[in-house]
Amino acid sequence: MAHRKCFVPTCKNDSINSPDKIFVRIREDLRKKWCMEANAEYFNVQLLYCCEDHFDPVADLKNYFKYKLMNQEPILKPTAVLKNVAAFPQEQEIPTTSQDSPELLKMLSMVQPGPSSRKIRKLDNVMPSTSSATTLPIKVHVATQCKVKMVDSSTNLRPRKRKGPQGATSFEVHSSQEFSSATTPSLFGYTSETEETTSEKPKPKMQMRNNVLEIIFKKPKMYLGLPLQYLWFIDYLVSKSTTKVDSLCIIVTLFKIKQNDSIEKISDLFELSRTKLSSMILLGIEVLANFFQNLVYNPQPKLIKQNLPLVFKIRYSNVQIIIDCFEIQIAKPSDPIKQAQTWSQYKNCNTVKYLIGCTPDGLISFISEGYGGRISDKALVEKSNFLDIVQPNSVVLADRGFKEIESLLALKHVTLLRPPTVYSGMKQTVTETLQSKVIASLRIHVERVIRRVREFAMLKPHSVVNYKYVPYLDEIVIISCGLINLQGEIIKTY
Ligand SMILES: [Zn+2]
Repeated sequence: MAHRKCFVPTCKNDSINSPDKIFVRIREDLRKKWCMEANAEYFNVQLLYCCEDHFDPVADLKNYFKYKLMNQEPILKPTAVLKNVAAFPQEQEIPTTSQDSPELLKMLSMVQPGPSSRKIRKLDNVMPSTSSATTLPIKVHVATQCKVKMVDSSTNLRPRKRKGPQGATSFEVHSSQEFSSATTPSLFGYTSETEETTSEKPKPKMQMRNNVLEIIFKKPKMYLGLPLQYLWFIDYLVSKSTTKVDSLCIIVTLFKIKQNDSIEKISDLFELSRTKLSSMILLGIEVLANFFQNLVYNPQPKLIKQNLPLVFKIRYSNVQIIIDCFEIQIAKPSDPIKQAQTWSQYKNCNTVKYLIGCTPDGLISFISEGYGGRISDKALVEKSNFLDIVQPNSVVLADRGFKEIESLLALKHVTLLRPPTVYSGMKQTVTETLQSKVIASLRIHVERVIRRVREFAMLKPHSVVNYKYVPYLDEIVIISCGLINLQGEIIKTY
């Protein structure tokens, strides 16, 4: 049996020191509730088991006797009750209950660690100064990476009660004056009028900011790329983040990525100084990327098959991933070497290029790191860790341009499916024409995903990313891909 550890932070039991105890897998529908009750972090996929000290094996296991007699895997009943986790006040309410999403939790719990899971670099929070423009590091090949840093930590879990109605219009974000101070992170909005007036130092009325926030909270998908039903997530992220961050920081970051307005304009809208806003955005990018990397993952082949759209079912049921590349124009680097590395002949400008993959039903299941636009599709496939995530005997669907990766995939016993090559002067056979058409229709799925990436203004083909943000482009892409996976129908099926 694999090593199992009790998820309760105060409990030291694991399958090694307590081999005789039952370690039951926590049901998905109980997971969030139990993690909140035990003050455990539920993003941590290592913490999936609960030891028998915290439930009643006879009453709470579906198959207690079969477990005892036949050594069956123990299964919890949906009615199981968590106990002996005390030491934490239980009357606190998680901020998100009423708008909670079982889909998101299910999705998070499915995140599989392993070679496919992306490692986020620890970002340097110091903003590059203007004078460093000549030495701007463009992460063309990033070799140095540090371990994935989970957003949350058990020590920082402080669920907060939300004041007032949950309706978006009543939101009001706390002034971020304390943003960089060392005190507890500011609460998400909810500074009521009365509190403000009775406090010793009345804060300046943020009339413009409050108006802007009101509009944003009415249409968060439009302004932030965050679907309305996941608005609670901002609050949640703030409460779980180990990095000191406030909700305003998350909001301005998402706003910048989605709208790509100038710092000057955003600082006016949110009534923040430009310096402050710039550092908030860089911090927000780090916190958000750490979280959203978990939402871009390659599901189990079995699950991909289960969710296969009808058009794939007959002849293309082994398609695991559909890949394509996209490029984003960046400001011309002043360093001639970086200029050359990022020069895209295809786009005729300086770009950063990404390899993206999605499942047949449109979940983004792979995103590479960014490479200078000069890189060929084949080299990009080789250098990114794409080949690590493809499953043997599966099929990868790609465009003609990827012809050269066929041999790379063959080494992994993976088949490349792409439209037949058209040679000039040669007429395509009827079968070839038909095959081209079918494959083109299947590729629509990845094209649609790229279109959705482009809805984030910073990632538009010719957004001309400011040199300040180029080193953060990978993180911005991850955040956007994670948000896309949250949007729409995609999530319903996973
Ligand atoms: Zn335990």
